[in-house]
Amino acid sequence: MKALCWHGKGDVRCDTVPDPKIEDPTDVIIKVTSTCICGSDLHLYDFYLPAMKPGDILGHEPMGVVVEVGSAVTKLKKGDRIVVPFDIACGECWFCQKELYSCCDNTNPNAKVAEAMMGHSPAGLYGYSHLTGGYAGGQAQFLRVVRAEANVLKLPDGIPDEKAVFLSDIFPTGYMAAENAEIQPGDTVAVWGCGPVGQFCIQSAWMLGAGRVIAIDRVPERLRMAEKYGRAEVVNMDQVTVYDKLQELTKGRGPDRCIDAVGCEAHGTGYVDAVMDKGKAMVGLATDRAHALREAIMCCRKAGTVSIPGVYIGFPDKIPMGAAMNKGLTFKMGQTHTQRYTGKLLEKIMRNEIDPSFVITHQLKLEDGPGAYKIFRDKQDECIKVVLKP
Ligand code: NAD
Ligand code: ZN
Repeated sequence: MKALCWHGKGDVRCDTVPDPKIEDPTDVIIKVTSTCICGSDLHLYDFYLPAMKPGDILGHEPMGVVVEVGSAVTKLKKGDRIVVPFDIACGECWFCQKELYSCCDNTNPNAKVAEAMMGHSPAGLYGYSHLTGGYAGGQAQFLRVVRAEANVLKLPDGIPDEKAVFLSDIFPTGYMAAENAEIQPGDTVAVWGCGPVGQFCIQSAWMLGAGRVIAIDRVPERLRMAEKYGRAEVVNMDQVTVYDKLQELTKGRGPDRCIDAVGCEAHGTGYVDAVMDKGKAMVGLATDRAHALREAIMCCRKAGTVSIPGVYIGFPDKIPMGAAMNKGLTFKMGQTHTQRYTGKLLEKIMRNEIDPSFVITHQLKLEDGPGAYKIFRDKQDECIKVVLKP
């Protein structure tokens, strides 16, 4: 089959690789019908996560049709259309019982390495390095879906791929980020980053009762999308000082809830901390550029909440913990417990409360993947979300 494989920094190729096979009775194999490129993939593309091996198959936002079923699988059959959450849960451990699926204890075969780095190992993730299991990813013609019944969402007839595929990650991620922000009715919610995740944070903030949403980015078409589809007030970080603007918009109190949907590759032209981060990352002295997180902490109102869906990898420094502590902030973060939200958010889509396809700017063939990584990373051609059709 064809698959997008990682070969080094900035080097993704469409290779011919062996088809996946059933390896465990709880597996199914899908023929992938839609698969996306995520901001998280860019951290691998830019080599911020140093646990990749040449030839690894990328991708963690797939959906498709079941073509083969393991002998222990009874609830899925050939021909079913399913969405595959990016995090892999066993469905049985202490964490899965509590719906903390991305913290599953049993699905990362390389748990020892992750434990050494983080104290405990998170769940296995598709296509996301050997630190989280080395599972082959979904930017491919076929995917081996492990522990299928504990994880996947079976789709009803009629719903097009474009509306369903983001249930694999970014819609649940935006929703969990808004939930983690602890929004109270009428709150002002500020969202850093108007990439695909930020867009779903904005949508979800309204669903959870926000009174105002302010969105921050520097890319004009992303800000326009936040304005048009997200009804957000927008702040262009290249045109104003974000802290000053947010204080002005909130009469000096600061936003009640701040969501960092940027993560470890934040930009910050003209900000000293961002310039230092960039220099350190270039010479391999740092894995994370945390300008957006620092700014969210500084901007957040006293006793507010900072929710962090943006991915961090290692040891970001200069985090203003003094400000966070003395202002009494709450922090909530994490890889999304996707399975907790798929059914509930599918219902919202079926009731026409949201059509997630608004974020799609590019639908391309799998073979176009290497170029698509580049235009998505470099924000060329007004690219916001790429869906690949294997
Ligand atoms: P993306 O790269 O398309 O979007 C990031 C956006 O942030 C860009 O539009 C960029 O211009 C903007 N940005 C950069 N610096 C900024 C700053 N200082 N202030 C404001 N905006 C800034 O990525 P995405 O797909 O939207 O993902 C966003 C983040 O969410 C990534 O870190 C990704 O890894 C993470 N993510 C997390 C989960 C999870 O489970 N928690 C799931 C999916 C993605
Ligand atoms: Zn993703």
